[in-house]
Amino acid sequence: MEGYGAMNACAPAEIDLCAQTTLMMEQNAPDYMLLHTCSADTLGHTFGGDSKEYRRQIWHIDNALSRSIPVWRDFGYDVIVTADHGMTSDHWHGRTARAATEVPFYLFSDAEAPEEGDELSQLGIAAWRQ
Ligand SMILES: [Zn+2]
Repeated sequence: MEGYGAMNACAPAEIDLCAQTTLMMEQNAPDYMLLHTCSADTLGHTFGGDSKEYRRQIWHIDNALSRSIPVWRDFGYDVIVTADHGMTSDHWHGRTARAATEVPFYLFSDAEAPEEGDELSQLGIAAWRQ
């Protein structure tokens, strides 16, 4: 249990969430897992996407993933890190603001990569339907 404090009241802390994921992988060897942390969304709605609280939470997520992804890769998993949306300075992620719609996409895999500089669409993973 680590990572809790006035600027990170989210529970579970990111490293604990990653540890739980690791335990589930060890114990059950699932074919597919989805880890969805809600902490960035919570702090973004509370403090805004351009706040020190939001940036610090992103650091917590980055730190936890940087410690966990090598373990998950050693287990044989491909790992995708992305987001379903970003966060604006207005504490929201609706509509089409770049801060809300342009999100990172990282693939940790031995799979063939696209050409450097290629722009990929999130719709290639999960198409949006209304
Ligand atoms: Zn939200």
